Amino acid sequence: MGDNILAINCGSSTLKFQLIESNGETTILGQERRLASGIVDRIGGNATIKFNDLSGECLVENSEVADHSEAIHQVLNWLKSLRFFETNGFRAVGHRVVHGGDRFIKPILINDEVIEAIEALSYLAPLHNVPSLMAISAARKALGSTVPMVAVFDTAFHHTLPEHASRYAIPQELTSKHHIRRYGFHGLAHQYMTERYAAFTSKLIEQTKLITLQLGNGCSATAVKDGRSVDTSMGFTPLEGLMMGTRSGDVDPSLVGFLSRSENLRIQEVEHLLNTKSGLLGVSGHSKDMRELLEAELQGDSRAALAIEMFCYRVRKYIGGYLAVLGGADAIVFGGGIGENSPRVRSHICNGLEWCGLILDHEQNTSTIGSLGRISVDNSRMHAYVIPVDEESIIARDTVRYLCEHLGN
Ligand code: ADP
Repeated sequence: MGDNILAINCGSSTLKFQLIESNGETTILGQERRLASGIVDRIGGNATIKFNDLSGECLVENSEVADHSEAIHQVLNWLKSLRFFETNGFRAVGHRVVHGGDRFIKPILINDEVIEAIEALSYLAPLHNVPSLMAISAARKALGSTVPMVAVFDTAFHHTLPEHASRYAIPQELTSKHHIRRYGFHGLAHQYMTERYAAFTSKLIEQTKLITLQLGNGCSATAVKDGRSVDTSMGFTPLEGLMMGTRSGDVDPSLVGFLSRSENLRIQEVEHLLNTKSGLLGVSGHSKDMRELLEAELQGDSRAALAIEMFCYRVRKYIGGYLAVLGGADAIVFGGGIGENSPRVRSHICNGLEWCGLILDHEQNTSTIGSLGRISVDNSRMHAYVIPVDEESIIARDTVRYLCEHLGN
């Protein structure tokens, strides 16, 4: 068996992977050697497949990919065609699983019982856990039982939320009966930003006080104290919190009943509307894509401008709330497609935060696109950083850590 770790990251209609060379527990996050990586996008229809490896060998094609199990076969077949299996194979496979519920707060070795438990949690995250389960089953079938597989959970980083932050103010009996709590999501991303921030600034993780912002299609903010999540904007489902590409984020819960009655919609239809037709898409009326909206705003599109304004305003509101939660922060950290690549959005969010000591360095902000760096001036009391998030590397790192701790290899 080789030393390579295959990290699999399933979204609702995507599968990303990275094949990472492992140096055991000594691998430093952000300094791994990637042997291959790729994405199968728009699974469930005519998918786009983009794979590439170190030598520059690549595959780009469009083809029908019915589900995540077929996507796994595409990945494994391609790796096979490059002879990865013959040279040194995989040491293990790590899978991101979105919802670990109350039970999975740490990585775990996948076996039949764990699969059943993840299946049982699917009612909490049907869009996400089901694709991961398909990928896990397909990979197990293809690779057999000699390759250990580890599940890494996106909710796990937030299990440290204190009860006053994780509870909803609804009757206790219902909370207990249905395991209702604010689980929080994007945990791998927030953990990654926290760890990379600590390494980059030579601080101890246990001494970090941060607000991490994952701003992609899905968006969330997390308050991190002493390296642990103490509050986060997504809740029981990923719908709560910031405004997102197609999700509304926070709304008055009465809207659900009101829209159901006044539009004659079933509750599930209202939920669907809040998840898939709202957010940037709903307000702008034409796109969920921040790049397109920024362009439209420049062309004078007032609805696009309002969508961007609302998006930034809500992030700023959460920053304000989390500054109160944390009693001030050392830094805010931007990650995700928007956070990493849009100086305009970052500057819009930070505009008006001078009162709490954040002074952006406009040159640094403009030049930091898709790369790690500080974007606040030297003497800013609170700093701002851009940290491009790489979930696959944390999946691989946690997988290796699990193997070293539990299987002694
Ligand atoms: P996901 O949450 O699905 O992983 P990403 O993190 O890739 O999504 O983020 C997608 C979002 O990032 C889209 O709204 C896209 O427009 C935005 N984005 C990507 N590049 C840029 C850019 N250069 N400027 C502004 N927004 C960008």
